Amino acid sequence: MDRCSFCGREKRDTNLLIAGISGHICDSCIEQAHSILQEELKKNSEFDVNEIKLSKPEEIKSFLGQYVIGQDYAKKFLAVAVYNHYKRLMHVKIQDKNEVEIEKSNIILVGETGTGKTLLARTIAKMLHVPFTIVDATVLTEAGYVGEDIESILTRLLQVADYNVEAAEKGIVFIDEIDKIARKSDNPSITRDVSGEGVQQGLLKLLEGSVINVPPQGGRKHPDQKMIPVNTKNILFVCGGAFDGIEKKIGQRLNTKTVGYTAVKESDMVDRTNLLQYVTPQDLKAFGLIPEIVGRLPVLAYLEPLDAETLRSILTEPKNAIIKQYEMLFDMDGIKLTFEDKVLDYIVEKSVEYKLGARGLRSICEAIMIDAMFEMPSGDEKEIHVDLEYAREKFEKTDIKRLRAA
Ligand code: ADP
Repeated sequence: MDRCSFCGREKRDTNLLIAGISGHICDSCIEQAHSILQEELKKNSEFDVNEIKLSKPEEIKSFLGQYVIGQDYAKKFLAVAVYNHYKRLMHVKIQDKNEVEIEKSNIILVGETGTGKTLLARTIAKMLHVPFTIVDATVLTEAGYVGEDIESILTRLLQVADYNVEAAEKGIVFIDEIDKIARKSDNPSITRDVSGEGVQQGLLKLLEGSVINVPPQGGRKHPDQKMIPVNTKNILFVCGGAFDGIEKKIGQRLNTKTVGYTAVKESDMVDRTNLLQYVTPQDLKAFGLIPEIVGRLPVLAYLEPLDAETLRSILTEPKNAIIKQYEMLFDMDGIKLTFEDKVLDYIVEKSVEYKLGARGLRSICEAIMIDAMFEMPSGDEKEIHVDLEYAREKFEKTDIKRLRAA
């Protein structure tokens, strides 16, 4: 009679009995072994904060360089901040009461949309061994109003950490579109600003570091829901925003300084075409972030607008560059795809002309490639060379308005 060599059950008492060289295993022992295996794997999971491998800032920056073109200034700040965050976590572990406490340095990235803020954050996440999540500030509202509570940010972090609270408490959160919760008006008597200042006050609690009761499943707080307390003291926050119109505030500030002889000289050197590079915490306040929030985001870095040369590099150079992705897609059908160099210049030219930025590169490529992607998989052709004439014909057929919306 065949039996399971692990639990001794007879074949007829199992759903399935698998024979090995000198033994058998039944379905329930397989399941049990599987869950033991999962447990073991979890122990060595990516979020073992005791096993953090510390990459040096230069290594972090060069890793970022594989995916993000240019933006050296922001990369440098981000690399240092992440490195320090790790060092801080290690320090917390061995902390002696009398030692200097390293304070966390939350980061704010300021740059036009589509210049790579989210991409930087996502790329950093790729090399991290701590839980990481991206949240959009525009969905946050004050408790009691339609939208999401501030605590939902931590729910997300808990979810990516598989509810390992210890790991989540050392994670990194990227808050996108932070500029959208700026105070809409300087006039405090204006009717309640539910998605502005109130949200900033709520956010402040997270940034400062405090114990927050988090609903594990997200959504609205429910009286019966068991809350999980999460301490945000060691969570690193990276905020990003376009801060549309902040150049005006920067310009005003630079202008008011130009009183007196030396100041005039200073202003001669101001590069008026890219005022964002002079952004200071003071400008963020003028834009409508409350001073307490600005104070909790001590590292301020800006992203450069993308010029044609950078856009051209973005098309082909990053590890998962758009052009490489199309080549791969065709390759999977056994089709060799090549582009004339002039086509790549043309794509960049159109993206600049219609002010579509880096996001536009993809939508323009899509417009050019859609017919080939539709037709070729069912045809016999095994090669396609996209030349300027072909690209132009396909692009000119496209509705620009649709590209803009993409
Ligand atoms: P932001 O968050 O600043 O609005 P994103 O990071 O979402 O912009 O960028 C949008 C897309 O544009 C990215 O997915 C990426 O493909 C491309 N992109 C933008 N900036 C860069 C860059 N500096 N290097 C490489 N790709 C970029």
